[in-house]
Amino acid sequence: MEIMENCIFCKIKDKQIPSFEIWSDDKFYAFLDINPISPGHTLLIPKQHVDYLFDIDEKQYSELFMTARKLAPMLKRGTGAKRIGIIVEGFLVPHAHIHLVPLNQGNQLNPANAKPMDKTELAKIAERIKNVL
Ligand SMILES: [Zn+2]
Repeated sequence: MEIMENCIFCKIKDKQIPSFEIWSDDKFYAFLDINPISPGHTLLIPKQHVDYLFDIDEKQYSELFMTARKLAPMLKRGTGAKRIGIIVEGFLVPHAHIHLVPLNQGNQLNPANAKPMDKTELAKIAERIKNVL
């Protein structure tokens, strides 16, 4: 599997950098954003390093979005949110990632609303989401 030196998300999925994991399999890794737009804001990444989402091969691209679909109900139940929104921008970290953001109202899905969350709180939310499984 290709690993990119100095890629923070490659280091996170390899557990060289700690993260609040909520789910993973052999191809994908999901963990809490430490600067969430809302509680439970999750980043879903392919374990293989690819910078741009639309450069991912077709099969893995489909699997990535099927994984997002699988995680959404878990996030919804774990956070009590009404819906789960998706954002893909990809300017901050050059490793493809989907933001899955629990939402309760319109116009909440705004990256400008992201703010740092306390690690104790993140750990609690991660546990709550994982326990939904
Ligand atoms: Zn990477």
